Amino acid sequence: MDCIVLIKQVPDTTEVQLDPKTGNLIRQGLKSIMNPDDAHALEAALNLKDRFGGKVTVLSMGPSQAIDVISEAIGMGADAGVLLTDRAFAGADTWATSFTLAEAIRKMGRYDLILCGRQAIDGDTAQIGPQVADWLDLPQATYVFEIEAVQSRLLTVKRRLEDGSERLQCRLPALITVIGEMNTPRFPRVDRLLGACRERAPVRVWNAADIGVKTRQVGLEGSLTHVIRTFAPKFKREGKILEGGKAQVVRELIRKLKESEGATACKAFAATCRL
Ligand SMILES: Cc1cc2nc3c(=O)[nH]c(=O)nc-3n(C[C@H](O)[C@H](O)[C@H](O)COP(=O)(O)OP(=O)(O)OC[C@H]3O[C@@H](n4cnc5c(N)ncnc54)[C@H](O)[C@@H]3O)c2cc1C
Repeated sequence: MDCIVLIKQVPDTTEVQLDPKTGNLIRQGLKSIMNPDDAHALEAALNLKDRFGGKVTVLSMGPSQAIDVISEAIGMGADAGVLLTDRAFAGADTWATSFTLAEAIRKMGRYDLILCGRQAIDGDTAQIGPQVADWLDLPQATYVFEIEAVQSRLLTVKRRLEDGSERLQCRLPALITVIGEMNTPRFPRVDRLLGACRERAPVRVWNAADIGVKTRQVGLEGSLTHVIRTFAPKFKREGKILEGGKAQVVRELIRKLKESEGATACKAFAATCRL
């Protein structure tokens, strides 16, 4: 059973900060990690390898430092990795990202199952898995929390729905997106991690020419959507917790309301409370 796992390197935060001038993500000082859902996808692939044999290859598109998540995956038990990195890939929307990943997968050759995380904690769209399946014309199951069986080239999975779950069967090769409740990812083994960091041997680094794509098909040029403006939401109101006994807190609240625009409403409120 040969698996390909898509892994994205993401900032170690869900509170992404944007540069107000450029609209770009402020990466300075942010630690990068393996996207949490992708660790579950990798664990699921490693479990399949433990049960049925075969190999696990991880694939990531990103800047050169994304090699760190590939090394981490190899430390956890993946056999090999591919890093897609090229200036031409920069500024890709989900359409161009999924196209690039799909073209790399075509070049990687034979596989039985592609596993992705459901969602990346920075981009947050959950579009890449379904789009890659579409480019490769594969059956897909999203929100998978259990791989029940693999028999006679048929994959049976359970997927989470809003109000329950669903059992699906599809023919291999296929693509699944995985959610966190599926498993607990194993820790990387130090010897494997050191091996991956020292040798980088099982990691191939490919650029646009290596996967046979043209610059106009990838990155910003190949993107169908363009960001006009990005901004972090501004919170106009500031919260304040009043301390003390009930009567004291209400008096203080009324005083503060009188100071603000709500003076009329405040008088009515005070009358009701007989304060
Ligand atoms: C117009 C536009 C411009 C953009 N410009 C940039 C930019 O300059 N720089 C930038 O970093 N982002 C940019 N983005 C965001 C970028 O397109 C998305 O981060 C990317 O397409 C993945 O989408 P997502 O993060 O929502 O992943 P999701 O769809 O939420 O991810 C689901 C799963 O897909 C897999 N996956 C996702 N991305 C990758 C990847 N890169 N490699 C391997 N597996 C992956 C993982 O398994 C992940 O769990 C831009 C987006 C738009 C719309």
